[in-house]
Amino acid sequence: MSASTKTDISRILRRLKECGLRLTRNRENLVEVLAQSKQPLSADELRQKAGFAATDLVTVYRNLEAFQSAGILQRIPLENGSQLFELTDLGDHYHHLICRECHKTERLEVCLGEQLSNKAKSLGYKQIAHVLEVYGICGECDAQAT
Ligand SMILES: [Zn+2]
Ligand SMILES: [Zn+2]
Repeated sequence: MSASTKTDISRILRRLKECGLRLTRNRENLVEVLAQSKQPLSADELRQKAGFAATDLVTVYRNLEAFQSAGILQRIPLENGSQLFELTDLGDHYHHLICRECHKTERLEVCLGEQLSNKAKSLGYKQIAHVLEVYGICGECDAQAT
């Protein structure tokens, strides 16, 4: 484990405590798995990597919900209705480019959401948020197909 991963984990755990979440072994496990993963993970992948039994998927989801409300987790919706999860910093905002075939996920450093928020504001909405993900076939998968 790299030094930066370690600081990330302790900062994230501190944040969970500040939000009034108890630091159970389960929660620490999940945070560690998320912090060490290079790619966003599905709930079931998380469950397996964190060493939970198949029957514990509900527990995993419950913890992920708690993480999300603490602002340390971003949910990435997929086209088929399932979702991936990755750690995020409070206030961070990313869109992703996701390969349909291999599920490779990249962060896009652009946000075109301003127009949408302005429109929502003009309609009298407050606390506006948006989710926007981009799907396609990555170069590697495309090369394999031809
Ligand atoms: Zn791909
Ligand atoms: Zn955005």
